[in-house]
Amino acid sequence: MPRIGVFVCWCGSNIGGVLDCPAIAQEAASFPGVVYSTEYKYVCSDPGQKLIVDAVKEHRLERVVVASCSPRLHEETFRQVLRRSGLNPYFFEMANLREHCSWVHPDTTVREQAQRKAVDLVRRAVAKAARLEPLFPGKIPVVRRCLVIGGGIAGIQTALDVADAGLEVLLVEREPTIGGNMVKLDKTFPTLDCSACISTPKMVAVAQHPNIRLYTYAQVEEVTGYIGNFKARIRQKARYVDHSKCNGCGTCWTRCPVTVPDDFNLGLGERGAIYIPFPQAVPNKPVIDLEHCRRSTRGKCGACAKLCPTGAIDYEQKDEFVDVEVGAIIVATGYGLFPWEKVYGEYGYGRFRDVITGLMFERMVNASGPTGGKIQRPSSGKEPKTVVFIQCVGSRDEARGKEYCSRFCCMYTAKHAHQILEKIPGSEVYVFYIDVRTFGKGYEEFYRRVRDEGAVYIRGRVSKVYQDGSKLIVRGADTLLGEQVEIAADMVVLATGAVPAAGAADVARMIGIPQDKDGFFQEAHPKLRPVETHTGGVYLAGTCQGPKDIPDTVSQASGAAAKVCGLLLRDELETNPLVSKVNEALCTGCLACQPVCPYRAIQPVTITERLPGQPPRERVVARVNEGLCQGCGACTVACRAGAIDLKGFTNKQLIAEVDALCL
Ligand code: FAD
Ligand code: SF4
Ligand code: SF4
Repeated sequence: MPRIGVFVCWCGSNIGGVLDCPAIAQEAASFPGVVYSTEYKYVCSDPGQKLIVDAVKEHRLERVVVASCSPRLHEETFRQVLRRSGLNPYFFEMANLREHCSWVHPDTTVREQAQRKAVDLVRRAVAKAARLEPLFPGKIPVVRRCLVIGGGIAGIQTALDVADAGLEVLLVEREPTIGGNMVKLDKTFPTLDCSACISTPKMVAVAQHPNIRLYTYAQVEEVTGYIGNFKARIRQKARYVDHSKCNGCGTCWTRCPVTVPDDFNLGLGERGAIYIPFPQAVPNKPVIDLEHCRRSTRGKCGACAKLCPTGAIDYEQKDEFVDVEVGAIIVATGYGLFPWEKVYGEYGYGRFRDVITGLMFERMVNASGPTGGKIQRPSSGKEPKTVVFIQCVGSRDEARGKEYCSRFCCMYTAKHAHQILEKIPGSEVYVFYIDVRTFGKGYEEFYRRVRDEGAVYIRGRVSKVYQDGSKLIVRGADTLLGEQVEIAADMVVLATGAVPAAGAADVARMIGIPQDKDGFFQEAHPKLRPVETHTGGVYLAGTCQGPKDIPDTVSQASGAAAKVCGLLLRDELETNPLVSKVNEALCTGCLACQPVCPYRAIQPVTITERLPGQPPRERVVARVNEGLCQGCGACTVACRAGAIDLKGFTNKQLIAEVDALCL
């Protein structure tokens, strides 16, 4: 039996205010193997750690148990203390007396039971500690290259930061240009600086950066591997234009005879079948939309090929695949907008052209947009005099399954209200709202300024929008005054909330990252690990993790870049030794474990078995890829032969814990 030391922590009054720590330490001294037991106010503090180091030496301790808080908080701290004491860091076990006992049983009427539970938790930890085995992290080399998926402002910022640190970056964007939603905006709240003026220089910097390889009109189709060593397959969609020949002269897209609604301008303008999404697109070279190309639909035209001075048009171009190796992945796939047309029938989708969304308004008010910056009713082209804004369309609406706040709509509505009042003299602006949330720097001041400019805020929901002659009547309730209101508007602008980008579920499946209940990607910890995921080497940037404005998006993108640099600037990585291991002698090769592994860490391998007195025979067994395994333990439960054990949580150790609790 190894010599075990027990250290019971008070965590100030968190544990000490509820439990009798000296009594726990005293009782622990009688558990099998325990040669030293003590208590201390804060074991994680500097003197607390020294207490352990000294006790290991003085009492020749071989295993250490700390009874304190959650392992999530301090397990690593104490492992380092063991390392400093000369012990294998995995000769350590923790009993969680805080989250599992004192915090959940603060009631004085159950003190005695809480005390007994605490003693049991320590007994369990001691039983496991007696059976701990030394574990050693493996070493794996690192590919010093990073894949960024999504080229909005999050992807752009994170790619630039990683590339500036001297690392290679592959940036993959599915649209023909980078820029994402930000580049569609006109001005940005609260400073009202021009969105394109601050984002297009960054887009150009990406295209020109020697360390960034840009793939636009491309998608990542497959990801395998593990932290430090991922393999990805990128599909470069056919553009039908050879970009190595194209000089971006624009002859083709100005002369294409086709006109279709322009998706970049959300249907407010038109483009050709060969097009660039907007004049400052990066790359500034066109793609052909084959679905609408006249040569493809009617078998004749070919105008662009005839006119192109460089012979760049290639109608026979095919999709191409590029296989790459990267050490880390940053997902920056952004957000989409709530499909209000499917759910808010009462706002008149498809019937009233003058009901538009906030993003459509951004395009309309933009000097390089389809109306040249003129605010006009889509139905008549006339300037609207009365504009009603409806907030929280697809946000904070439990009845439509969207409980969360989209975090930027209150502010962009205030911005739009300001733009109407500024650009249309004598105009009236009404905003229906639930609450106005102005959490950012300078936001509250901006909102007050817009109210002072004359925007009328009405607290309440809109029940209906209907047409009366040339006007749209917006009927709603003013919940502050307790009365019905009806406003005759020329235009209605909906603040549609943010939803995960189209295809987010496919990305989640492909890379193995969970989604939260709303479909955004789940960070590893909401406070302490907000840019990491539970898959080692995969990080999140921007709104793909949850709605956020541009400052928060950019901060998170730089945070993800810092994490990637911290990872890729090492020569090699230490792997987590708490992974599953297959006992090949027991494994029957049934592979029941393979489908349950969420990280695709288990693969079949053929081994040659040599048993005494028998000819060698080949058979299939399961093998765990230690780089991929995250130590969740799911496979150990699925294995009927009991052939898989999770290191640090072996069956022997778990049974000893159960036995200790059932004493
Ligand atoms: P996105 O801009 O959505 O970029 C994501 C990119 O990833 C896109 O280019 C997309 O095509 C690409 N992508 C998605 N899936 C894939 C895939 N599978 N493979 C490859 N590429 C993929 N914020 C402010 O701070 N100030 C404002 O004034 C402001 N005004 C706004 C006005 C409106 C109407 C709206 C709707 C939002 C506004 N915002 C504003 C919020 C702002 O748009 C976001 O904070 C910002 O655009 C988020 O950037 P992102 O890179 O996370 O996402
Ligand atoms: Fe490029 Fe040819 Fe079109 Fe000019 S005409 S933009 S060179 S494809
Ligand atoms: Fe996959 Fe098993 Fe590792 Fe979990 S413990 S990640 S199931 S191999």
